[in-house]
Amino acid sequence: MQKLPFCPAEKLREIASVCPTPFHLYDEQGIRLTARRVREAFSWNPGFREYFAVKANPNPHILSILKGEGCGVDCASLTELMLAQAVGFRGEEIMFSSNMTPGEEYRLARKMGVIVNLDDITHIDFLKENGGIPEKICLRYNPGGELHIGNTTMGHPWDAKYGLTRPQIFRAIRLLQAEGVKQFGLHTLLASNSTDQAYYPTIAKMLFKLAKEAHEMIGAEFFMINLSGGIGIPYRPQETSADIFEISREVQKLFAEMIAPSGMNVNIASELGRYMTGPHGCLVATAIHEKHIYKEYIGLDACAANLMRPAIYGAYHHITVAGKENLPNDHIYDVVGSLCENNDKFAVDRPLPKIEIGDLVVIHDTGAHGYSMGYNYNGKLRSAEILLHPDGTFDRIRRAEAPKDYFATLDETEFYEKLVNQTEVDK
Ligand SMILES: *Cc1c(COP(=O)(O)O)cnc(C)c1O
Repeated sequence: MQKLPFCPAEKLREIASVCPTPFHLYDEQGIRLTARRVREAFSWNPGFREYFAVKANPNPHILSILKGEGCGVDCASLTELMLAQAVGFRGEEIMFSSNMTPGEEYRLARKMGVIVNLDDITHIDFLKENGGIPEKICLRYNPGGELHIGNTTMGHPWDAKYGLTRPQIFRAIRLLQAEGVKQFGLHTLLASNSTDQAYYPTIAKMLFKLAKEAHEMIGAEFFMINLSGGIGIPYRPQETSADIFEISREVQKLFAEMIAPSGMNVNIASELGRYMTGPHGCLVATAIHEKHIYKEYIGLDACAANLMRPAIYGAYHHITVAGKENLPNDHIYDVVGSLCENNDKFAVDRPLPKIEIGDLVVIHDTGAHGYSMGYNYNGKLRSAEILLHPDGTFDRIRRAEAPKDYFATLDETEFYEKLVNQTEVDK
């Protein structure tokens, strides 16, 4: 099966002629359509909200597009809360699903009136001292054991650092009720990049059951069940994407059976990251070297500092060469970056058309956990981000880092002036 980039070769060349590679390119139309599909799929639940996981793509322009489509945001740090505030998200449009949370972050979260998602029972006292306990609060559940979807083992929640155990959930609800909490939310995140249709229904069932029991046994009122993130995308050409409508229908059935009879007015929430923006971004790089030793290498002007997933997870990202989409993949390459790290490989033994120096190489599906995972190892600089609008125009929504950015935090040292006053080589 063929997997084409969302942006045709001609347009890529036009963009690259005004913005030097490498850059991450995002497809506004794709992001909007996905957000609308998710919203429509869950429209059976009037209070449904997708809280986009900011860590997946923390560019305020992207957050602003999602805000326009009715999404909220899920934050987990001080700067993510600041981004949310700057984009105009307010109060309950923001989830704060943090863990091992510093006091100042809880204090800001409480000042902003966001929905706090407690990751641990000891955080009750900690939050009390850092901002205070709100009337509505969410609890993150860790069921322990193994996660089974159908006959497959999907993961080992007992080995994850997140959430409260079942007995702790009940104890926390009682403690929080005594602190004046009136309404509770429940949350869990047990998978990453799951394209299994049964993932959301499986955790929905688990959370609905827990909410029902806590309601009946200790009178807990629930305002939200947060199914969190983890829905995957088809990174490989032969994979298909999860059907969000089918997933939602299954959740709706369980809701009707398990929650509706209680009479509680429960909003379903999601905190999707990858599913929302992953397919709607790509990393565009230029082939700058070829190397023929024991294997054939193509060297790009991008490196793992721009996209870390292949290096740290061995993750597959599809690659096409602009203008060569329909040529036979009759060459086998390792497509690599310039880090002094042998895992800096975007692809290993990948069949591709013959690549010439100067070709634009498109690394697909970098719209989530791409730019945001970047780092500065080897002093490599982060790339620009470009937004392609539905009408074919485009804007740079973040400039590339320059050496002065890399040196910025040395500004209190005697080296700073020398570092930033050096003449940079011409690009
Ligand atoms: C990372 C994360 C998400 C989003 O995960 P995706 O795999 O991108 O959908 C949602 N919620 C929390 C708490 C997270 O840590």
